[in-house]
Amino acid sequence: MTNPSLLILPGDGIGPEVMAEVRRVIDWFGAKRGINFDVSEDLVGGCAYDMHGVPLHDDTMAKAQEVDAVLLGAVGGPQYDNLDFSVKPERGLLRLRKEMDLYANLRPAQCFDALADFSSLKKDVVAGLDIMIVRELTSGVYFGEPRGIFEEGNERVGINTQRYTESEIDRVARSAFELAMRRGKKLCSMEKANVMESGVLWREVVTRVGADYPEVELSHMYADAGAMQLTRWPKQFDVIVTDNLFGDLLSDLAAMLTGSLGMLPSASLGAPMANGRPKALYEPVHGSAPDIAGQGKANPIACILSFAMALRYSFDMGDEATRVEQAVEAVLADGVRTADLLGQEGVQPVSTTQMGDAVLAKL
Ligand code: ATP
Ligand code: MG
Repeated sequence: MTNPSLLILPGDGIGPEVMAEVRRVIDWFGAKRGINFDVSEDLVGGCAYDMHGVPLHDDTMAKAQEVDAVLLGAVGGPQYDNLDFSVKPERGLLRLRKEMDLYANLRPAQCFDALADFSSLKKDVVAGLDIMIVRELTSGVYFGEPRGIFEEGNERVGINTQRYTESEIDRVARSAFELAMRRGKKLCSMEKANVMESGVLWREVVTRVGADYPEVELSHMYADAGAMQLTRWPKQFDVIVTDNLFGDLLSDLAAMLTGSLGMLPSASLGAPMANGRPKALYEPVHGSAPDIAGQGKANPIACILSFAMALRYSFDMGDEATRVEQAVEAVLADGVRTADLLGQEGVQPVSTTQMGDAVLAKL
């Protein structure tokens, strides 16, 4: 058997700093668990532009298509703000998502008990929270035609079109049901079928796909009611599947139930490959954080948890993923905090590397 393959793209800003801690976790798996990955590393974003004049080289794109999973840090920074739109760092990430056709964006909202005070909600509402939002990422109102600003009579009109085909709904619904099967076997689909035709079709197709997953308890909710329920009692949910626009809103809402940006991982999944696992790109939700880059302050947990997601969803190593998550939980329970996690006075923040040390020690 060949080793599972992983392409690492640290990117810009704090990307390389947090990725260095992930590399140590990967090395730990090799040394202590005999689980070895074929890791290659390459450039994306501003650093790729500096080297090649493009934010993603064709060779890097080709590599991304071949590996079992891609793990990305972050892209961008103020020094690239004035670049032409076509070579902006973010275009490198968008090209990856588009050419790998990553249509299902997974954003977990998980609340570690030690950080429950960080939420803007009451502690008992969020303590132990563990839900997953699946956002459709490649279609819907962000891409539908016609779109643009047009002349209409003596004024202008801005137009976007919410558009979903049955197959687009079908494939993201399948990703969500597969996920629900590996979790609490509960899926809630959110749309606005009361006012939108695309929502009517969404509900119909999700229901139809559900027939292939009789073990999963399926429910439907209007997205506005869903937003309300997510803040009222989020623990009623397990997996939520929704479209691109509602998913954008709901996943940010859910993320902030749990506190800091430095804690949140994500996965973007595409069609199954020959090995049965989906094409996949894992990345922390946070950006390149230019304000703290180069200072050793960044919290590496979001990136470490993104690797844990890769273990679970690309490498079928759910137990090893849980091991990493439990190490993070134990570190937080010990009160180890990077600066972004500090609320209480009198606690000294640790550096990026020290947080990595603490996670390795718990592993
Ligand atoms: P992007 O446009 O790439 O999403 P952004 O400017 O919206 O970037 P971030 O780069 O994520 O957002 O930064 C937002 C704030 O959160 C910054 O103040 C940053 O320092 C902080 N932050 C983000 N990630 C981390 C992290 N891993 N550890 C500590 N602080 C972080
Ligand atoms: Mg942002």
